[in-house]
Amino acid sequence: MALFNLTTDIGMDLGTCNTLVHVKGKGIVIDEPSVVAVERGTKKIMAVGTAAKRMLSRTHGDIIAIRPLRDGVINDLETTEKMIAYFIKKIIPRSFGFNKPRMVIGVPSCITEVEKRAVFESAYRSGARDVKIVEESLASAIGANIPIFEPTGHMICDIGGGTTEISVISLGGMVITNAIRIGGDEFDEAIIKYIRNVHNMIIGDQTAEDVKIKIGNASPDKKIEKLEIKGTDAITGLPKRLEVDSVEVRECLQEPIIAIIEVIKSTLGETPHELAADILEHGVVMTGGGSMLKGLSKLVAKETGVPAILAENPLLCAVLGAGKYFDYINKHSSNIYQNLAN
Ligand code: ADP
Ligand code: MG
Repeated sequence: MALFNLTTDIGMDLGTCNTLVHVKGKGIVIDEPSVVAVERGTKKIMAVGTAAKRMLSRTHGDIIAIRPLRDGVINDLETTEKMIAYFIKKIIPRSFGFNKPRMVIGVPSCITEVEKRAVFESAYRSGARDVKIVEESLASAIGANIPIFEPTGHMICDIGGGTTEISVISLGGMVITNAIRIGGDEFDEAIIKYIRNVHNMIIGDQTAEDVKIKIGNASPDKKIEKLEIKGTDAITGLPKRLEVDSVEVRECLQEPIIAIIEVIKSTLGETPHELAADILEHGVVMTGGGSMLKGLSKLVAKETGVPAILAENPLLCAVLGAGKYFDYINKHSSNIYQNLAN
């Protein structure tokens, strides 16, 4: 049965790690990794999303699993288009009569105009009308219930897998957007590098992410947590076990964390004084899976002097915002003039 009724709006969060789709009246119907498995040479799609991620580090020579948006830039446009089409086709029935759904797609702000156009056309070809491409942080701000149409400055920091976007929003518009290609992936890579250099052990991406989520911490904690991990001895090549603790993990995460905090600071420095005063009062709202690193919002607050608030559902803000974008803009844009007049 089709998941969708004919007058509905669809919101997609096309993230570097995860793609989520929200259908009005149904909620979140897709939440899968942004991964595609293709046949080498022919580039034929073998699997998309969860099924493809399972193949990521276990593929044999003829199948390659790729993350087409890994660094916040589309490094394989054709595969990205196919991935979008696959997710849309999963929810849009083949014959949709005259009432094609409206669709909003949140994308990393680093992608180029040409890439945005390709995303747009892919959605359009797959059966959507009124396709609107928005920056991920704008979608996240709406999804985090930040009153973006008020004549007040709001700051949002969205830490995804491959990118971090820091934006200042006021009166419905983006005053500043700064993006860097550092996010949760770099936390994982820092852990892999550290384990290799200090413990002579090779671990995979999945193990590193596990370490980060289970015992990773950005601020010093009284309690030292430990985790046993498995990998390969870099010298003997044999499988081995190792116990890591949260103190060493915190230390190895310093570099990417500092890079993110520096961009928050420089964005605050660029912010017009009145809006900066608003942000000092309301704080910076943190969204995206990377913000869920334990102690990160606490550290951001300590380093910047501005309160940092972790959004209620950091992983869902962008898709929820994209899902209600059209209704939200309709409802609030007329208030802009009223707000300005007051
Ligand atoms: P994107 O929008 O780029 O697809 P997401 O917002 O989905 O990214 O976030 C994915 C990132 O969040 C990954 O790097 C993942 O490891 C990280 N992540 C998810 N949950 C946690 C957690 N509890 N603690 C730390 N990092 C997390
Ligand atoms: Mg995201």
